[in-house]
Amino acid sequence: MLAEMSDDPRLDISVPGNLLPVDGRFCSGPSKVRPAQAEAVAAAATNLLGTSHRQAPVKGLVGRVRGGLSQLFQLPDGYEVLLGNGGTTLFWDAATFGLIENKSQHLSFGEFSSKFATAAKDAPFLDNPQIIEAPAGTKADAVGTPGIDLYGLTHNETSTGVVAPIVRPSGADDGAIVAVDATSIAGGIVVDPSQFDCYYFAPQKCFAADGGIWLAACSPTAIERIERIKASGRWIPAILDLQTAVTNSRGNQTLNTPAVATLIMLADQIDWMLSNGGLGWAASRSEKSSSILYGWAESSAYAAPFVAKPDERSPVVGTIDIDGFDAPMLCDILRRNGVLDTDSYRKLGRNQIRVGMFPAVEPDDVAALCATIDYVAERLL
Ligand SMILES: *Cc1c(COP(=O)(O)O)cnc(C)c1O
Repeated sequence: MLAEMSDDPRLDISVPGNLLPVDGRFCSGPSKVRPAQAEAVAAAATNLLGTSHRQAPVKGLVGRVRGGLSQLFQLPDGYEVLLGNGGTTLFWDAATFGLIENKSQHLSFGEFSSKFATAAKDAPFLDNPQIIEAPAGTKADAVGTPGIDLYGLTHNETSTGVVAPIVRPSGADDGAIVAVDATSIAGGIVVDPSQFDCYYFAPQKCFAADGGIWLAACSPTAIERIERIKASGRWIPAILDLQTAVTNSRGNQTLNTPAVATLIMLADQIDWMLSNGGLGWAASRSEKSSSILYGWAESSAYAAPFVAKPDERSPVVGTIDIDGFDAPMLCDILRRNGVLDTDSYRKLGRNQIRVGMFPAVEPDDVAALCATIDYVAERLL
């Protein structure tokens, strides 16, 4: 099979250089890293890299990240930016231990949004969560329900390319927490902080850094919840202890050693967004890229947006169904031409491509990607 496929002459389709994107990185996570971010790492070669994270320079870097995010998201007084090691996947477990009091509600409409739900379901010290499911390519809506103390929303379902609005469910109990997995869209869409208590993400999507760190913008209600659960005496493993994260974050520290290069790239991306006008500006780049992609797909004879409702189509991760030829073959040909990682989410099982359009990606490169795909498609159809 493999030998047959690599013998296929169609794999040798060569796209003319004038059609190709200048930068061929379209991964849906991690994101394209801007060259200036890598240069910022090189510039820190002797003053930050290889220095103690307990001393002022690295603390200053963490402080720059926390302060920059507060400014970027225009967090109201009393909101705090927490961080720790382990990425979003670790944060789901930390939130299961330290943010859910008894019973949570989760919206599950794809691979990523289902994971926090599973963590809560498996926790022996919590009531069984309510899970509201919706089919891939659509979104689910939270339902305010007495007795629910945490609502688990997902701002952007990266596996399907669906964006969901962030609003507090009406009819929720006073003090109920709205916790949003914003991993793939934080920094790529405007959000109203009054609608969430915990907006958590990792640096490898819109912030164009490496993975391995989690960040969470938390309201006073969320901080209070963390303190109350910790004080209740619940057993919490040290690496998952959000109260420890609160204490460390306030001192611009992490419990254990952070990846300093990742923090440098993250800080550089935040500064880039802020110096160009902030979150609205960053969001407008993804908005522009995605309107190019969806507009192209809508007018194409062989491509179509997977997400049926236009207002549910993600500005940062575009999913496009392909009809008439094999999408994995297309992705393979693109890869051989230097256009990388347009593959669909493996478990979705559709004849589809998926395009990361994080703020670091140039809208002109998305237009060039569409032209490149047309060139290849003409030779495959
Ligand atoms: C990428 C992603 C994750 C996983 O993040 P890690 O930092 O790799 O754990 C979680 N949720 C969403 C929505 C994502 O896009």
